[in-house]
Amino acid sequence: MGKQKLFGAIEGGGTKFICAVADEENKILLESRIPTSLPHETLAACADFFLQARRNLGPLSALGIACFGPLDPRPASPTYGRILATPKPGWENADIVGFFRDTLGTNLPIGFDTDVNAAVLAESRWGAGQGLSDLVYLTVGTGIGGGALVDSEVLHGYAHPEMGHVLLPKHPSDAAFSGVCPFHGSCLEGLASGPAIEARWGANAADLPPNHPAWQLEAHYLALGLMNICLILAPERITLGGGVMNQTFLFPMIRSELTYLLGNYLQSPQIADMEHYVVPSGLAGIAGLYGGLALAHQALLNQS
Ligand code: ADP
Ligand code: ZN
Repeated sequence: MGKQKLFGAIEGGGTKFICAVADEENKILLESRIPTSLPHETLAACADFFLQARRNLGPLSALGIACFGPLDPRPASPTYGRILATPKPGWENADIVGFFRDTLGTNLPIGFDTDVNAAVLAESRWGAGQGLSDLVYLTVGTGIGGGALVDSEVLHGYAHPEMGHVLLPKHPSDAAFSGVCPFHGSCLEGLASGPAIEARWGANAADLPPNHPAWQLEAHYLALGLMNICLILAPERITLGGGVMNQTFLFPMIRSELTYLLGNYLQSPQIADMEHYVVPSGLAGIAGLYGGLALAHQALLNQS
């Protein structure tokens, strides 16, 4: 048997960049966590990790970068590989792909996409959406973001969807809360992200007991968001990740609320089997890093 190929992955987040090298079976051989500071510092530390890995393990076959957005994932675009408008100091316009081309070599195939687009690809390969051609992954954490697989391709459109920012009708009991999204106030992220729960109830979501009224409202808003996603994309399944979804009692609450909201309008066997329709991520906690690996595999495939 020939030598195993090596794949590099980066999960780029607002607080840390996780870098890893894995074999063809996704066995992680090396891993490093690098704090997110200014781009030149953080990216240089990531590049050092991969250069060191090359010396120790051999050359990579491809690198996949699953990064916070907004970003430009369209290879034909003049701003391809860059972060777009972001409030994170120093990161606006940062040329992520260019940096790794310069430091790791132009021959290395590089995949670059949002963390959630990468995660939906990983879910379809190795997680809770295996074998499906139409799938959504939604993370409910500091922000809310989603990626969609449509006809077995990650949906990009003009750049990438921003399904965490769909507008929702406010629940009458929540009239006094204006939402935390700096752009839209009471969009899905503004009403249902971890910081929204904290702002509304004055306590971290992780500390609220299961019988707290916060959770019925949370399930209601998440179900409203999922309803819009179902109606527009008709995915075969939706997988949910992110810190807030650690509260697993939310799943049955979201399922029954979604069934109620859809009002028997969508008559598909997938929707009827709600238990398997809205499910926890199969890669909880590792969807971003495995997303990077999925992008690396795809980059190698696209090149050959
Ligand atoms: P990030 O979105 O920053 O990548 P997370 O997905 O962990 O990271 O999301 C962090 C948010 O999730 C915080 O607002 C936090 O309050 C919330 N959170 C983290 N753990 C839990 C938990 N066990 N239960 C409820 N909320 C949680
Ligand atoms: Zn918003």
